[in-house]
Amino acid sequence: MSNEQEMADVSDRKLSVADLAQEINRAFPDLKCLRCGGEKFFLSRQSVMGPISQTEDGVARIAGGHLETVALSCPRCGFVEQHLVKILLEAPKPIPVVNSDGRDRPL
Ligand SMILES: [Zn+2]
Repeated sequence: MSNEQEMADVSDRKLSVADLAQEINRAFPDLKCLRCGGEKFFLSRQSVMGPISQTEDGVARIAGGHLETVALSCPRCGFVEQHLVKILLEAPKPIPVVNSDGRDRPL
């Protein structure tokens, strides 16, 4: 993870990239690249502009405006995954992985 100390205003909290890395580690203790299985990532703060559709508690909705995200980039294969920071911060951790049958998969 990068040690970049850039600050951002997220949900009324000042979070550094190191803080976001800690949240990622708490959310996904066994994090691996979804494409190549690599275990190291570069972390960077990004944003997406709305509208964006997202699913929360099984309800699809459209949100507008500027949404802050954190991107994990794999230095091995180049795959990038991106998380909406607000949802990542609010999710109970660790976040269980859901199987295709809808049931949580043990970590
Ligand atoms: Zn990879």
